[in-house]
Amino acid sequence: MLELSTPVKFVKRVGERIAAGLATRGIDTVEDLLYHLPFRYEDRLNPQSMAELVPGTMASVIGEVRGTVLLRTRSGPIFEMTLGQGLGTVKCMWFHGAYLKDRFKLGQMVAVYGKLEPSRSAMAAAAIAGQGASAGRFKMIQPQFEIIPDGADPEDSLEIGRIVPVYESLGGTTPWGAKLTSKWMRRVVWSIFEELDPATKPGAPGLDSETWVPETLPLPMLSRLALPSRLDALRAVHFPEAGTPMPELISATTPAHKRLIFEELFYLELGLELKRRRMRERVGTAFATGPAVREAIKQVLPFHPTAAQKRVLAEIVADMRRPQPMRRLLQGDVGSGKTIVAMQAAIIAMENGAQAALMAPTEILATQHYLSARKLLGDVISPSTGKPYKVVLLTGSLDPATKRQTQGRIMRGEAQLVIGTHALQEDKADFANLGLVIVDEQHRFGVQQRFKLMKKPTADGVASDPDVLAMTATPIPRTLALTLYGDLEVSVIDEMPPGRTPIVTRRTTEEHAAEVWEFVRKQVAQGRQAYLVYPVIEGSKDDQPELDFARDEEPASQSASQPVSKSAAKNGGSRGLQAPDKPAGIRGFSPGSSSPKRSKTSNLFAAKTKLRSATEMFDELRTGALAGLRLGLLHGRLSADEKEVTMARFHRGEIDVLVSTTVIEVGVDVANASVMVIDHAERFGLAQMHQLRGRVGRGASKSFCILMTGDNVTEQADVRLNAMVATQNGFELAELDLQQRGPGEFFGTRQTGLPEFRVANLLRDRALLELAKVEAERFAAKPDPALPPTEIASVWARLKQQWQRRYGLVEA
Ligand code: ADP
Ligand code: MG
Repeated sequence: MLELSTPVKFVKRVGERIAAGLATRGIDTVEDLLYHLPFRYEDRLNPQSMAELVPGTMASVIGEVRGTVLLRTRSGPIFEMTLGQGLGTVKCMWFHGAYLKDRFKLGQMVAVYGKLEPSRSAMAAAAIAGQGASAGRFKMIQPQFEIIPDGADPEDSLEIGRIVPVYESLGGTTPWGAKLTSKWMRRVVWSIFEELDPATKPGAPGLDSETWVPETLPLPMLSRLALPSRLDALRAVHFPEAGTPMPELISATTPAHKRLIFEELFYLELGLELKRRRMRERVGTAFATGPAVREAIKQVLPFHPTAAQKRVLAEIVADMRRPQPMRRLLQGDVGSGKTIVAMQAAIIAMENGAQAALMAPTEILATQHYLSARKLLGDVISPSTGKPYKVVLLTGSLDPATKRQTQGRIMRGEAQLVIGTHALQEDKADFANLGLVIVDEQHRFGVQQRFKLMKKPTADGVASDPDVLAMTATPIPRTLALTLYGDLEVSVIDEMPPGRTPIVTRRTTEEHAAEVWEFVRKQVAQGRQAYLVYPVIEGSKDDQPELDFARDEEPASQSASQPVSKSAAKNGGSRGLQAPDKPAGIRGFSPGSSSPKRSKTSNLFAAKTKLRSATEMFDELRTGALAGLRLGLLHGRLSADEKEVTMARFHRGEIDVLVSTTVIEVGVDVANASVMVIDHAERFGLAQMHQLRGRVGRGASKSFCILMTGDNVTEQADVRLNAMVATQNGFELAELDLQQRGPGEFFGTRQTGLPEFRVANLLRDRALLELAKVEAERFAAKPDPALPPTEIASVWARLKQQWQRRYGLVEA
């Protein structure tokens, strides 16, 4: 008898070998298999007849095989299969499709799913015949297909005459996987349900009763929210009843889908709520903020704070005054002025005799913070000590002697504000009395890193946790933020400092490079400075993650060019429908072009994968198009000293044009810079471009962002570039970014410490997330009096079990 916990190998059609393969996909039990939901459905109750087909749409068509042919072309073999239905035909094409040669037999019934395009021969024929329409002839590139068996197998009913679930393949290219098609899944899941049928097992449904599919949510909650039982929901998502509206199925909004998604999010939120509650019980430091402290804070302000800065400071102050440790995330768009707020918080800690640490993701940024903190605090006398504040810098590249010396000062409590990179987390960097940790550009750190620093014990053995203020310029909706950074409260700076003029953003192509360089020259002539950013350091390949220290972090600069993310494919269903690369057409570099520069640049494009790199363009431009200007080169492979010297020279205006990679993505603040040129902008992600653009527009004069594209702009890249031109609002861009990449990639699992969801999608299911959060808070605070105590106990027990199994990463 099957139960949810039964290992998959005991399921009909699975067995040891397939089970071993499934295990690599995280599928060990019957339950795991049942939670591998269809990612799409086909309405084969009413398959579309060819007469109703509309070119340009996704369609599911059933027809008979009328012919097959394997074409040898220069770009590889193409397999063509013509599917017919009455007078209509759909020509299906698979690139590199030699493996399909013997799959289809004439007359066989086949279902295909893909994007319909008018067939060119059909258009020609229609034109000759003087017909307007394409005469019922279409083609599909790389459709998904399924051969419909013609035997009398009763399970055939799973394929035709119903709404058919379509599963993401669990196999793909693995040797054992050839079998694990959608069809295989349907049969396996069907037989599981046959065996699980509760009719064979008496017993009232409910959390504490025994059924094959135990309920996981309290019944009163289910009925209040009008959600179906777990078993009913599982059955309905795999085999929807006739009449279930297709749009609801496709958008995962049937009651069955909602129930499963809600369940997953409810337990997630319940776990997070528990974590927040525990956090509130922790011992922290209650900082005093008397008049002297307030005076000290005011002293350092070089300008009037914005209303938003005042508001978030008040929120931070309120947290710091409490005896519980602060856990706050400060969100604010690039350039909104988070740093000064952080400095004010640091002063509060220092005035209370505690140390503050500011951690930045790159050495460049840490150094910049150090220099500006010294400037800001330089002439300020601390009211409590009567002396200036002692600020130190601790980064990985300090020479060992200096490092030891600095660590000593930190340990003895002589250093009051410690600014650094992840080097701060090295075990040797013990603090005498760490009261506040500020994490700048928090999204560039992993969650684990954040926790490591927070947990550092103080030297005198007092077990109080320091306050933590994390800052990020990646704006995300509040509920998402609260979920992703589950233990953090959120403050938002939603206002820019006054006097900023909007940044003019333009798209252009590499053919217009000469005009871009001309523009840069003009700006420099007016005393301004420019950044030129390239996707790679040197060489042609796209394999150079440009992060300063993040040795084991996700290469942020690479994720941008990933064509279709898992979740994007899930949502859009476009997987496998991409045509192979377009031939390497070199647009724009016409022979006899007037500019001598262009012909040289065009050499770089001889190979289509060739990318312009920071190093090569630095050499090319300083003797070529930008000759006479003072150019600097900055990238992650330079030593820390070289980087520091170059940055300092750029700050002082001794460099006009800084040729760089994404090392300058975060934080860098040079107000005189007015031009940001991003080359190969098509390769950058939205968050990155937005951050890069934020490097300019920091002064009062007009600034420009020029997005120059190479030859290979994908559809998604096109959307990104247009969005950059259309808006400067970080929230809007983040939304689009989230949509394009999906939460998993957007945040990075490591970053959030969140598990992969089985059914939920944080982006798509936002409304359910809100509901789950409310329900979880309510449940944790005061469970519904209608709930029997046994049900309450089962929920907590289940949370524990889930927390361990799936959220093991996240500390409770
Ligand atoms: P981010 O939030 O991106 O870290 P910064 O803290 O680097 O932004 O601030 C961007 C720039 O704006 C800095 O040059 C800072 O000095 C300036 N700035 C911050 N707050 C104000 C303000 N209230 N008025 C004027 N300029 C400000
Ligand atoms: Mg900043």
